[in-house]
Amino acid sequence: MSAALNIDLHTHSNRSDGSLAPAALIEQAAAAGVEVLALTDHDTVAGLEEAQGCAQTRGVKLVPGVEISASWRAQAVHVLGLWIDPAAPALLRMLEAQGELRRARVRRICARLTQLKLPGADLLAAVERHPGLPTRAHLAHALVAGGHVSTAEAAFRKYLGKGKAAHVATEWPALEAVVGWIRAAGGVASLAHPARYALSSGARRRLLGDFTVAGGTSLEVVSGGNAAQHVDTCAALALAFGLLGSVGSDFHDNRAAWNPLGRSLKLPDRVTPVWRSFGL
Ligand code: AMP
Ligand code: MN
Ligand code: MN
Ligand code: MN
Repeated sequence: MSAALNIDLHTHSNRSDGSLAPAALIEQAAAAGVEVLALTDHDTVAGLEEAQGCAQTRGVKLVPGVEISASWRAQAVHVLGLWIDPAAPALLRMLEAQGELRRARVRRICARLTQLKLPGADLLAAVERHPGLPTRAHLAHALVAGGHVSTAEAAFRKYLGKGKAAHVATEWPALEAVVGWIRAAGGVASLAHPARYALSSGARRRLLGDFTVAGGTSLEVVSGGNAAQHVDTCAALALAFGLLGSVGSDFHDNRAAWNPLGRSLKLPDRVTPVWRSFGL
């Protein structure tokens, strides 16, 4: 049996909420034996150029990607755009608008934190010092650094999570529009971490139905540290909806030691890999 391709189609750099610069991410992936890596920062392609420069010298094949926040009914979902053209003008315009939405959102969350007697202006300044497009993860880290909570998870549990004291509802663009933008930029739309949304199994199937009708063609069957039963469920969903399968660590930083780069995530044999159509 030939050795399986070491491929990871979902990672973050410090252009969003990852901790490594794009080149450092590639260096670490190369050292860990990753052969094909997609950089998929939240709502930005700003890290791709630096990553590509480093990938060429380190012999890693870089898949240009992005992870776009979308709305499906009242649920925020994440759609990975893989093999996109990061210079596509319509995509760049859309991501510029996403960036504005994110910058406005973090200001609103910080105003809420101020109402909760936390130093909202200082927390905002800490987030804005980062090179990345702001996410709630940046705020969670600022809350930890300021000694207001002990872990990022606690920051979500207490303040930032859905329904919590500083949560701000965000009107992300509709799922159908996001899938359309990815396709117009020449990319493949892959629904990220389907097991992570707070949906009943019926609602999850409706989401997948709408995603497929919109032109989505892939499902992230193996995501990060997913338990085996999630992989089986997601593989069954991919087969039921005629979707290709993707694998990704969703790597952000080395703090999550259980989710390292280069672990060689295994897509079940019964699912057709999304990368096959790209000659990999
Ligand atoms: P946003 O896209 O701005 O809503 O931020 C969400 C990001 O925060 C995710 O991509 C994760 O990286 C991180 N995140 C979400 N939920 C949690 C959690 N419970 N604990 C720690 N980090 C989280
Ligand atoms: Mn993230
Ligand atoms: Mn995500
Ligand atoms: Mn992600």
